[in-house]
Amino acid sequence: MSDFIPTGIHLVYLAATSLFIVGLKKLGSPATARNGNIMAGIGMLLAVLVTLLDQQVLNYQMILLGVVIGTVIGTLAAYKVKMTQMPQMVGLLNGLGGSASALVAVAEFWRLLGESQTIPLDSSISILLDVLIGGVTFSGSVIAFAKLQGIMSGSPITFPLQQLINVSLLASYIFGGFFLLTAPHNLPIFLSMVLVSLVLGIMLVIPIGGGDMPVVISLLNSFSGLAASAAGFVVMNNMLIISGALVGASGLILTEIMCKAMNRSLFSVLFSAFGTSSSSSGNLDVTSTVEKVFHSIDPEEGAMMLGYARSVVIIPGYGMAVAQAQHSVRELADQLEKLGVEVKYAIHPVAGRMPGHMNVLLAEANVPYEQLHDMDDINPQLEKTDVALVIGANDVVNPSARTDEKSPIYGMPILDVDKAKHTIVIKRGMSVGFAGVDNDLFYKNRTTMLFGSAKDMVAKLISEIKQL
Ligand code: NDP
Repeated sequence: MSDFIPTGIHLVYLAATSLFIVGLKKLGSPATARNGNIMAGIGMLLAVLVTLLDQQVLNYQMILLGVVIGTVIGTLAAYKVKMTQMPQMVGLLNGLGGSASALVAVAEFWRLLGESQTIPLDSSISILLDVLIGGVTFSGSVIAFAKLQGIMSGSPITFPLQQLINVSLLASYIFGGFFLLTAPHNLPIFLSMVLVSLVLGIMLVIPIGGGDMPVVISLLNSFSGLAASAAGFVVMNNMLIISGALVGASGLILTEIMCKAMNRSLFSVLFSAFGTSSSSSGNLDVTSTVEKVFHSIDPEEGAMMLGYARSVVIIPGYGMAVAQAQHSVRELADQLEKLGVEVKYAIHPVAGRMPGHMNVLLAEANVPYEQLHDMDDINPQLEKTDVALVIGANDVVNPSARTDEKSPIYGMPILDVDKAKHTIVIKRGMSVGFAGVDNDLFYKNRTTMLFGSAKDMVAKLISEIKQL
């Protein structure tokens, strides 16, 4: 079918693909990321416009209707969704990508069935792959969305024979696939397979909980790309095949980076039900917390410690994102630098609720890129740091990840904030973070707590520092 597409279209597809690849490369560094995003955007615009010129398009009115509805929903969502809700939003978008690809396969199956009683082998294989990956992506993403949005509990849902059921579901899909390859005119079997793919997506994500959500989101992102690529084979569109493969590959690379950041293998993320409440001594134990002692200070004391320090490392976390305190944090750093304090930021790869969350927020506040340090870079420096200022971070600075084998976050690399000469933690109370575990850092001799919402507390620190 693609042979009939004029060469010009292929050339523009090639240009668009090149823009995608260069754009993706530029996304690798904060300094070039904006340009990379624009380049990839132009590539996508070219690809969409040229595809619309394709003679295979039958109904422009329907496409226009889709564009209008999508634009309205997308614009409203972009204005309404808060920065802290981005992970859910990304999860949902992955799901929509997966469902769109799966629907392409369903529609193509229907069309081919209407045309003749036989479906070519290559079409059947791509349709079956598309339905499986797209269906799993859709329902898995809906569950990830529900967990992150708090619609359902973030704890893993496990039950006996779960893995066996999952294997049986996959086996039944493969069996159904072989059956359809020999007798494709069986619509009920095909529809049952669509259902199996949806159930499989739910079953794969419900046992995953707590701190493993970043990995799941990036894995589903990769799946949505693979589904799009499979849809490309279904409708024989090179652009869709290539762009889907790029999303699939970059999602897989991100998944690997996230696994490394949490020191977990992908297998253990998917199959070990991380965060099961009963399995952990690390879960917040109210009695022991009451017995533990923490020291709290007021903003004036905090300002003195910061203002008279030689070096301060700021550790932003989810609480800073919720409070939208990034601009105030930047102002605080400026004030400290005026006093001759060396200020750096320590960025944990899973701080916040989505990959790169802290980088995005700090870039929005124009924090200089050279002040941002990743974990491997900053950890050796923390011992020599006068004050580590933790703003709304919890799990990513929890030392039990290093020592407590029973903690659900055991093994996750953390920022070694407890090794700094002094630590100030800004948070509203003693609540746990995303993984639901208490944090020994808060009870250490060298740690002081500054209770309050991040934005208010940072503003108070700024006004106190100005008076030093
Ligand atoms: P955490 O979720 O561990 O802790 C955030 C802390 O912020 C809470 O303890 C809370 O305490 C405090 N907080 C909440 N609101 C405010 C506020 N307005 N002002 C000040 N403090 C506030 O955050 P981290 O960034 O340390 O860790 C991220 C966690 O999220 C990890 O477990 C990670 O695995 C997980 N995750 C990460 C994703 C990613 O891709 N980055 C995606 C999904 C999950 P209090 O209520 O007492 O104020």
